[in-house]
Amino acid sequence: LVRLRTRLSRSQNALGKGLLTLLSREHLDEDTWEEIEDTLLTADVGVTPTQELVERLRERVRVLGTRTPDELRALLREELVALVGPEFDRTVHTESGPGKPGIVMVVGVNGTGKTTTTGKLARVLVADGKSVVLGAADTFRAAAADQLQTWGERVGARTVRGPEGGDPASIAFDAVKEGIAEGSDAVLIDTAGRLHTKTGLMDELGKVKRVVEKQAPLDEVLLVLDATTGQNGLVQARVFAEVVNITGIVLTKLDGTAKGGIVVAVQRELGVPVKLIGLGEGADDLAPFEPEAFVEALIG
Ligand code: GDP
Repeated sequence: LVRLRTRLSRSQNALGKGLLTLLSREHLDEDTWEEIEDTLLTADVGVTPTQELVERLRERVRVLGTRTPDELRALLREELVALVGPEFDRTVHTESGPGKPGIVMVVGVNGTGKTTTTGKLARVLVADGKSVVLGAADTFRAAAADQLQTWGERVGARTVRGPEGGDPASIAFDAVKEGIAEGSDAVLIDTAGRLHTKTGLMDELGKVKRVVEKQAPLDEVLLVLDATTGQNGLVQARVFAEVVNITGIVLTKLDGTAKGGIVVAVQRELGVPVKLIGLGEGADDLAPFEPEAFVEALIG
């Protein structure tokens, strides 16, 4: 929690503290409630969730009557935890039955942190005693395969790659084939995320998915979103959700200028949980998303 708190960006700490300060005002008049609403909107929480939250806060503060700082903190913590959604299953499914590796496909727009996330996830699994094969199916960005292979060497995972500009589906196929042949525990497939046309993306990711599933079922499709892109990230999320069946979201760069409210907005948008968060560029900067700890870090 201490690490999370120090890593989350200042703007996010400001969100929790700002709300608490506003709620602590002696007279909670209309202007103050509007300020609370603005604070949430500015933090990317989104219009509907903001309105719902403010309504609940108003009601609870009214019932409470006089408010001590501790009561307010507890109330805000409860409501924020309810907002970021504790009811989701946030397990990252990297295991399948015996004799078949867990297969994870990592998708998202280029630059969001897909390759880095794939490397970090491999690191977590290897540290857990698992054998991992990486599939470098992002053949669009020239350096992506090198970058993934470097991660592989760093964390102790084998990388399957093809020629630059090669067919992503055939690399994904080979990676899964190798994972099965070697009895590996997990295969992580990094893909390209060109958003120039939806049909192009659909063709490419659809094909990768199909060739993978010819050999073994996909256990997890993780959508990587750059938390600093705010509402733009939501637009991307929508497009990807139309193309593949997303099973979990990874929010990267929460250590940057990101605003924490995007967690709420994107889960509402897709109905899929944030499972992992990126808190930096290093190998250990990937953390499970835990609503209670996240909110605790926000409130400070
Ligand atoms: P890709 O094109 O989606 O594969 O993106 P990359 O994995 O190459 O990441 C793009 C940039 O974002 C790189 O410079 C990464 O080091 C950086 N990056 C990725 N995740 C995080 C994160 O959680 N925090 C920060 N600060 N930087 C990140």
